[in-house]
Amino acid sequence: MDVVTRIPPSPTGRMHIGTVRTALFNYLFAKHHGGKYLLRIEDTDKERSKKEYADAIHEDFSWLGLEPDSVSIQSEHVPRHAELLQELIEKGSAYFSKEPAKDDPSKELELVRLKNPGVEVTFFDLIRGDVTFDTSELGDFVIARSINDPVYHFAVVVDDNDAGVTHIIRGEDHISNTARQILIQEALGYERPQYAHIPLILASDKSKLSKRKHAVSIELYRQQGFLPEAILNYLALLGWNPGTEEELFSLSELVEHFTLDQVQKSGAVYDEVKLRWFNREYLQKVSDEVFLEGVKNFFSKEVLKTLEETGRLERLLPELRERIEVYSDVAEMAKAGEFSYFVGEPEYEKEGLFWKKDQSAENTKRRLEAVLEILEPLEDEKWTPESLKDALWRYAEEEGKGEVLWPLRYALSGREKSPDPFSLAAILGKDETVKRIRFAIDELLS
Ligand code: GLU
Repeated sequence: MDVVTRIPPSPTGRMHIGTVRTALFNYLFAKHHGGKYLLRIEDTDKERSKKEYADAIHEDFSWLGLEPDSVSIQSEHVPRHAELLQELIEKGSAYFSKEPAKDDPSKELELVRLKNPGVEVTFFDLIRGDVTFDTSELGDFVIARSINDPVYHFAVVVDDNDAGVTHIIRGEDHISNTARQILIQEALGYERPQYAHIPLILASDKSKLSKRKHAVSIELYRQQGFLPEAILNYLALLGWNPGTEEELFSLSELVEHFTLDQVQKSGAVYDEVKLRWFNREYLQKVSDEVFLEGVKNFFSKEVLKTLEETGRLERLLPELRERIEVYSDVAEMAKAGEFSYFVGEPEYEKEGLFWKKDQSAENTKRRLEAVLEILEPLEDEKWTPESLKDALWRYAEEEGKGEVLWPLRYALSGREKSPDPFSLAAILGKDETVKRIRFAIDELLS
């Protein structure tokens, strides 16, 4: 059998991370079986559907690398839906029902209701096994609000059948819809597709992940500078496990390993800390150019300008790569003043230069002079954190590490907390480092 799966988002808002996970499972399953994965924009809710959201769905999927094999738009199928509704009415499987509108009883609607045989429906779910619903309670349910306005259940059944969908992989919240949809399929004489209802994504308090309470739109993650590879890798493991301890998978590796029998039944708890961990792993792999472009967006214009002009931006990259999990962390660092000493000269009281165990200005000055003597003759190629450390280490060990490294670090940053003095000096460059040490020595004399 040629596998065909689909993702049918409604363009009524920015895409939810749960929709992306469902799309991913559909994509992986289809590709694993050499099949096709379709995107259908379900825009039949005319009031809430917006073109900009439909455009955003395409953009988000292409950013993620989940390109569908074909795209359809549900509103274009309305004539087809009407034709089939008519057929069901003629066959006697459905009928028009004139009823007052709920919101305005003076208005009469011509609903279409399905003649419900009222049977027990059992379907086999690839994740949950047999699932049975008694459909007699549903009565003759509505399948269209008018001949040209089918409800979701009807449209979805027709569209899936017309597109040759073989597997419906969707959120568990749709499980109770399945019985209705099967009754519609049977009335239309369709073959039943296979179902797989995947566990919902839960918040850490085990409540349903909601748009209102949680930051769940894919747009937000994109804006914060998460990498699509990290998002996909993380989401794949949200409810699925590869059966090994391995965690890092590229999209093609996921395609290779993904099977529905490794999907769990119980809800999958969303953990942003873990997502950030994945992102950091992927950040380590991107090239310097890509990394630079990514972080640039999160500096203010002025800071970026100074860092670029002084050549410090590039030298800052190893430090940033070490420290950030997501590009936007750079903005947090900036807020905490962590770049201020790379952009402007530090301001401080000279007492700040004293190592806690030695409050003598004389000793501090002597040590900074010794440091200067070691550093000044170093050639420019030696101006890296490793070589600077090599150059200073012996003296620091003889004299006391805190005694030497604290005043040096403080002279460069003017802060209690900052990166180590070797990284600071390397990022600042030789001239600026020497200038700041001299300035500190002068301060100590005053
Ligand atoms: N448009 C529906 C949704 O986004 C489709 C559900 C389905 O997969 O059948 O929830």
